[in-house]
Amino acid sequence: MSPHNLGWIAHTVGGTLSGPPGVPQDELAGLEVTGPVVFDSRDAAPGALFAAFPGACADGPEFVRDALARGAVAVLAAPDDAYRAPWAGRGTVPTVTVADGDLLRALSALARAHLALLPRTTVIGLTGSAGKTTTKDLIGRLVRELGPTVAPKGSFNNELGFPITALRTDEDTRYLVAEMGARGIGHITHLTTIAPPRIGVVLNVGSAHLGAFGSVEAIAEAKGELVAAVPEAGNCNPDRDGVAILNADDPRVRAMAARTKGRVVLFGEAPDAAVRAEKVRIGPDGRACFTLTYRDGDGPQRHPVTLRLVGEHQVANALAAAATGLELGLSGETVAKVLSAAEPDSKWRMAIGESADGVTIVNDAYNANPESMRAALKTLATMTRSRPGARSWAVLGPMGELGAAAAVEHDAIGRLAVRLNISQTVAVGAGAAAIHSGASMEGSYDGESVAVPDVDAALAFVRSGARPGDVVLVKASRYVGLESLAAALLERA
Ligand code: ATP
Ligand code: MG
Repeated sequence: MSPHNLGWIAHTVGGTLSGPPGVPQDELAGLEVTGPVVFDSRDAAPGALFAAFPGACADGPEFVRDALARGAVAVLAAPDDAYRAPWAGRGTVPTVTVADGDLLRALSALARAHLALLPRTTVIGLTGSAGKTTTKDLIGRLVRELGPTVAPKGSFNNELGFPITALRTDEDTRYLVAEMGARGIGHITHLTTIAPPRIGVVLNVGSAHLGAFGSVEAIAEAKGELVAAVPEAGNCNPDRDGVAILNADDPRVRAMAARTKGRVVLFGEAPDAAVRAEKVRIGPDGRACFTLTYRDGDGPQRHPVTLRLVGEHQVANALAAAATGLELGLSGETVAKVLSAAEPDSKWRMAIGESADGVTIVNDAYNANPESMRAALKTLATMTRSRPGARSWAVLGPMGELGAAAAVEHDAIGRLAVRLNISQTVAVGAGAAAIHSGASMEGSYDGESVAVPDVDAALAFVRSGARPGDVVLVKASRYVGLESLAAALLERA
């Protein structure tokens, strides 16, 4: 982050300064934070500000010594009553004590004030039910071609990770690619007040976090807050025009055009999309190729793209990224070249490996919701179809956070597995049992379905049945930890 002194930080967050005895207030106020703002002491670096959050198992002040050892120069703290025990370091370590004890609010205020000082930084916000991190990584790779970019690996899309990410920008940063997640109405609006986006990208609206929202319409309402926040188009300076980049193939996303004052750019396979994919094909390795088409002042443009990311759903993510890059002035050649060279940046998302005995493992154990389950199953079916004699295995754990819709959504996934003729569906754990019952109810087909109680049983089942050439998809919500099964299968299937 660009340097800020402790006096400015205290003023910005509504805090008071304290520090070693005998150090005058103005000297404390002049102390500069030049490093990152961190809440995990292991991330501290020289010049860092350590935010000492109260924790579920341990309080932040217990890690101040470690943060200081790694170079932190100051602490952002809550008053003593927020912690299990009073923190003596307040009188010895340069500290900003936040009066109301709300460190999340303080970090948001800090990030908001920090970004307001960086008018050269263009914020690209993106949201959607699935594919945010993948697309953020693609956009990051594209806009790095144009200038210094902050788009850190991982999600960082909530009320904590988001301001921490925004605080990584400095005077040199031209682009901040900001993943925005929502678990309720107003969440994305809050994030846009921290980092006001000039460009808002919406990928899709599905049932992820349906339990928290209650309806898909509410999810659409929440995601649309992003494009409602972009500035008006038609300024004297087109570089400041707001732009809403919307998925033309998702009716709920397309409808968000009505909620923005920015210029609307549609992407997708729909004929009226400005940035389109034509001739989409999926290879036996699950990777998609397509022709990127759009129009510019010289007429229609076409550029072949071969993705290294696995799954047909990546085409939409790549188009969203392409639309963003083209909007910011990249050439079609560069967009196609960068997208074709992009390796997966974030782990456990459709990561392909091969076991010693020739079984292909598709590890998508990072997370699961109905949209990404459907996308992964379709990819599994396509990959297996192009391998004569190979069988497809879908090892599926529960999808979390679906609330009352959980049974129906799991059932639907089991039925889809049957319709896609998946050779062997393995539902792992009680939470996934409805996948098996859905598959059993859908009717007869060439494959079969089982339910197993846990990860160990799933591993034993797959190991005893998978043959060289087979393709095994491993997927569940994050909390299930199914990546251990993928790792074990890779060791020896
Ligand atoms: P989170 O909300 O957990 O941060 P995210 O929106 O950032 O998720 P990713 O991490 O990019 O999404 O991908 C999560 C899962 O969704 C992966 O299983 C991936 O294969 C799948 N996925 C990615 N893009 C799409 C898409 N456009 N449609 C459906 N599924 C997708
Ligand atoms: Mg993410």
